[in-house]
Amino acid sequence: MSSAQEHRLKCPQCGAEQDVLVYSSINVTIDPSLRDRLLAAELNLLTCHACGNNALIDTSLLYHDMEKQFCVGQSCSSGSECRSTFCVGGVCCDRACNGPTESCTMPGHAGICTVRAAAPVASARGVVALGAVLTALALLMLTRESRRR
Ligand SMILES: [Zn+2]
Repeated sequence: MSSAQEHRLKCPQCGAEQDVLVYSSINVTIDPSLRDRLLAAELNLLTCHACGNNALIDTSLLYHDMEKQFCVGQSCSSGSECRSTFCVGGVCCDRACNGPTESCTMPGHAGICTVRAAAPVASARGVVALGAVLTALALLMLTRESRRR
């Protein structure tokens, strides 16, 4: 069985509170749609009704696939402890997960190999921040250039 509980959570951006269904374990044999939602990074996602911010909820999630006979998301120190045989970053992972942008310890997605840039809000903000830094650097260099003249 999958298990989920309502939690009152605060939006990290604006502080508005709302009730969110947080999954602590999913059984993809019984609820195959949950697997798709998880892989689309829609599961355990707080979508703020006040500001529209998306934030992954930092919680551990047990992923259970009865057909493939493995559980992921459990802590481990070696692959032999995992039915999937993959121990990645201290958790049993659904696959080897050794790509440069892949992580098996994403908050809320522990045990599921996820591309790190899965959170669209976080990556968009990162790009904006990088842009701001580059603009500041360019302005600084321009100021120095003009002072030299
Ligand atoms: Zn908000």
